[in-house]
Amino acid sequence: MTDTTSGAASAPAARIIDGKAIAASLRAEVASGVAALVERHGLQPGLAVVLVGEDPASHVYVRNKAQQTREVGMHSLEIRLPASTAQSELLERIAALNVDPLVHGILVQLPLPPQIDATAVIEAIAPAKDVDGFHPINIGLLASRGAGFVPCTPLGCLLLLKSHLASLKGLRAVIVGRSNIVGKPLAQLLLREDCTVTITHSRTRDLADECRRADVLVAAIGRPQMIPGDWVKPGATVIDVGINRITDPRDATRTRLVGDVDFASAVEVAGAITPVPGGVGPMTIACLLRNTLTAATNPGRGTPA
Ligand code: NAP
Repeated sequence: MTDTTSGAASAPAARIIDGKAIAASLRAEVASGVAALVERHGLQPGLAVVLVGEDPASHVYVRNKAQQTREVGMHSLEIRLPASTAQSELLERIAALNVDPLVHGILVQLPLPPQIDATAVIEAIAPAKDVDGFHPINIGLLASRGAGFVPCTPLGCLLLLKSHLASLKGLRAVIVGRSNIVGKPLAQLLLREDCTVTITHSRTRDLADECRRADVLVAAIGRPQMIPGDWVKPGATVIDVGINRITDPRDATRTRLVGDVDFASAVEVAGAITPVPGGVGPMTIACLLRNTLTAATNPGRGTPA
């Protein structure tokens, strides 16, 4: 957008919600909580991350998680198993972590190789150590009592929304995507905040109209730049969860990351918007660390946001 009266380029219409900065301050808060726990009770929170197989993206995630875990002063345990690992062996490892007093949080990196049933693995994790919030007990606690461990990406989305909006009460929230890890738990969190929540998906009729009614629009689809600016209500707060790698339109030899929202057009209409990268992404690991601190401090109680 250009200011034609002065000839100077004006700022974009929307405020950019800086997930990197908000995640850094959350990690600093967690680090001081860890330091206090160590000093007062001699208790160092521990996070175990289990990785099965050679998926390159998963290796990067696990390395980042371990590094950030150590940076906040927690004990980090990385368990790397070959792609051929039998389900029974993985379940034995989880059973051992469930009773390990040095481990307060357990995360099994998804996806798992085809011989392993992810549901059985998630259900084997002790709910009090399920810092990913995927165990049915934690899902049920979130739905019925607004308690339990909340999955990290939706928790990050909520914290980003709260960083911009003083109150979510009564706002119309539209979530595009109904996955168990993002869309559904986020709907529960936004209901808890007294939003009026609509969850949309690939079979939704008139998706554009649904989006245009949203005061808070969350895109968790996995389709690059699918939501254009003219689907965004003027002044809406837009949270873009999508992480999609595309060929760079300016240089076909390179790739770049984009979200599920067409940032360039949406930023002109929205009141606030998260960028990709640098929006929801950094919040996910920060929320994992926060959940792990809660697990160590308050076993079995979960994380109110
Ligand atoms: P998912 O399990 O594949 O779910 C995608 C959802 O989008 C589904 O509910 C699907 O509908 C819906 N959808 C697909 N095409 C659609 C269309 N044309 N119109 C409307 N809805 C459509 O994906 P996910 O795991 O939730 O992840 C979503 C995105 O978020 C991905 O880009 C992923 O990489 C990213 N992500 C980011 C983080 C982070 O840390 N920032 C964490 C998790 C995920 P149906 O249910 O009808 O199929």
